[in-house]
Amino acid sequence: MKKIFLALILFYSFAFSNELPDLGSSSDSIISAFQEKKIRMQLLYQANQSPTVLKDPEINAYMERLGKKLMHGSSLLQTDPISFFIIQDRTINAFAMLGRVIGVHTGLIYAANSESELASVLAHEIAHITQKHLPRIIEAQSKDTFKTSLAMVFALLVARSNPQLANAAMQTAQASAVQSTLDFTREHEKEADREGLKILSKSGFDERAFISFFRSLDEANKFSSGAAPSFLRTHPITLDRISDIEDRLTQIPYKQREDELSFALVRAKLQAFEGNPSASISLLKTNIRNKSGVNQDADHFALAYAYLRGGKLKQAQDSFDQIKHLQTVNPMVNELKANLLLKSDKVNELEKHYKQALLTFPNYKAYIYGLAHLYLSTNQIKKAMLLLEEYESIQPYDANLYKLLATAHSANGSLYLEHKNLSEYFYYNFDLKEAANQMGLAIKSVDANFYDKARAEQRLKEIQGEITLYDNIQ
Ligand SMILES: [Zn+2]
Repeated sequence: MKKIFLALILFYSFAFSNELPDLGSSSDSIISAFQEKKIRMQLLYQANQSPTVLKDPEINAYMERLGKKLMHGSSLLQTDPISFFIIQDRTINAFAMLGRVIGVHTGLIYAANSESELASVLAHEIAHITQKHLPRIIEAQSKDTFKTSLAMVFALLVARSNPQLANAAMQTAQASAVQSTLDFTREHEKEADREGLKILSKSGFDERAFISFFRSLDEANKFSSGAAPSFLRTHPITLDRISDIEDRLTQIPYKQREDELSFALVRAKLQAFEGNPSASISLLKTNIRNKSGVNQDADHFALAYAYLRGGKLKQAQDSFDQIKHLQTVNPMVNELKANLLLKSDKVNELEKHYKQALLTFPNYKAYIYGLAHLYLSTNQIKKAMLLLEEYESIQPYDANLYKLLATAHSANGSLYLEHKNLSEYFYYNFDLKEAANQMGLAIKSVDANFYDKARAEQRLKEIQGEITLYDNIQ
């Protein structure tokens, strides 16, 4: 139902207009800021629901940080953030969508040889957004081939309601269905390269990575029909595109840039959680023995996680010991240690470990979630609440936080606070209807006093106001 809804939004976007400030381009008149926000909410809602979208707080935080760095390189975006989500798919792809949303395949993260290479593809996608390429395409379609567009949108709608895809709204097939309806032109690609290069440069990445990544994609494409094509299909790399970028690079001095350790650790964690643990273990052991991996520390890190997955605690500990000196350098290494303690049932040590880790890396999401889970599972409800409430004052838009708070209040027998927090959980997961439902339940809770009810009624009004606002946007 939701998926059909999105297709309808895309359809309606052809016909209606205009809240965006006039920036002198006719493309601004086709999709309003409100329409884009509605599409954005719908897309992010689907991404949250999809089992193929990665939910790992550390990997998502890394992508968010990388995205923020790039946005600082693009002055247009300071106030209006772009959201990224990661899809577990080994094909190399990334795609910008309406609503300032970018999907990134895990295959792209693997294929990039450096952080700058990954950043170069993201910068290119961000440029498609800042240059408003999708609204421009929609505008062109609505002028020239409205009937064809309509047919295309309905084809998209049918593809979207395919029951096999029902539980995986963000699966590649659908993403590319959207993509193929909204193909970028050669001019769009060149413009995204030019603007992307500027973004990359301003945010301190190595601009040469742009060309090195495209070159290796092109090479990969020549030799295999498997891994490379999806990105190449949606963003064809032509010779004149490459020479255009090379021309620009001749004017830029060489820049040496060292990757953040997290880049290697993110790839290592993805690798450790993919496929069969024993296959990962034997591959990583070979890499370490032959020193054939790109980063030995990251290989030990991945091997520790792979052993943990395979239930081999002793070996996992041995692998961790190889990199334990990095605990003060990188928060992901501390989280690995926490996972070791958790799997070994060392509850007291785990609490101490998390508290120490939070001193070194304050407000690190994975630690907050981990420590809260620990408190909840050992029935230390008051401690869980204190931790979560303190964190809420710093990170008030985090859906997971409200889910944990709801669990804590439920364990405490507080119905009103359970529903109130569940409402916020759904709200920040872009499910406004369920948020309203839960706030309604909060109002009706037997333990809600007069002031609680008044506050909940006020919040319910706000949520219902938003629902009405979005329902009226077509
Ligand atoms: Zn492109």
